[in-house]
Amino acid sequence: MSSSTLIRVQQLSLFNQNYCSNNNNNNKNGNEKHTISVFRLFLHIFDYIYLFHINIFLYFLLLIKRILIFFFGFWTFIFVSLRGSRKTLIQFQSVKYYDCPLQPISLHRLHFLPKKILVLDLDETLIHSHHDGQMRVDIGKPIGSPDYIIRVEIEKHPVRFFVYKRPHVDYFLETVSKWYELVIFTASIEIYGAAVSDKLDNNRNILLRRFFRQHCTLEFNAYSKDLSVVNNDLSRIFILDNSPFAYRSYPLNAIPIKSWFFDPTDTCLLSLLPFLDALRFCHDVRSVLAMNLHLHKNLMMTNRNSLITQVLPPST
Ligand SMILES: [Mg+2]
Repeated sequence: MSSSTLIRVQQLSLFNQNYCSNNNNNNKNGNEKHTISVFRLFLHIFDYIYLFHINIFLYFLLLIKRILIFFFGFWTFIFVSLRGSRKTLIQFQSVKYYDCPLQPISLHRLHFLPKKILVLDLDETLIHSHHDGQMRVDIGKPIGSPDYIIRVEIEKHPVRFFVYKRPHVDYFLETVSKWYELVIFTASIEIYGAAVSDKLDNNRNILLRRFFRQHCTLEFNAYSKDLSVVNNDLSRIFILDNSPFAYRSYPLNAIPIKSWFFDPTDTCLLSLLPFLDALRFCHDVRSVLAMNLHLHKNLMMTNRNSLITQVLPPST
């Protein structure tokens, strides 16, 4: 081999070596670039999926929010619609108190007993009322519209009273009027008490005897009721009043009752009917009502609203 040929062979071998090394570098760079692009692709896909899922999640939350708003609005609509009729529904629910015919021996017994007198308080016992601009927030809100709106003039100022009847009061009065002589005795002023009594009487002529504030006694800044004004025979007279102070002089002639304001589910008047049905057969009401003395003390402690009402009846 000639020297020129040997040099050429060496040059070719060097070229091959350089070419191979360049190819290897290019392959390495190509692999790195390929790896980076695949990685970036994964990142893009991940971002896309992430954003897609975030959007789905936000859309889902928005959907739930709209569903809740819809149902809340729907429930509010139903509640407001039924609220007004709730009182009516409860007031006219079927109430059954079986007025059984008396046995001959019971009729005979009643025949020899003088008819007893049931004295009834008005405010917070049979009704609750408030007048223009007077709404106590501590006793709750009325349900539905008032049963009566009474317009009277007090000290030359026209005043409207919004009167709410205690649940079952009409049935109560209708029933007890067959057993007792009914008398209204209220610490409110006459013009208001008479108007409310007229409404409750409803032309039945069962609430004809009435006593008002001028017949009460002012003691300790509250009004008490003197039952002897109604009748001197204390063996056959008793009072139903939410205020223990009203009958403080006659605890043996009293039936306590919880103050009523707006509760449409109240059944206190109905619950009294069996007791009142039986009481008419006793000779002296005090012999039975004396057993209620512990209730008066409890009510005096807990029922402060009644005292407030008595000091400031709705007619003031
Ligand atoms: Mg009262």
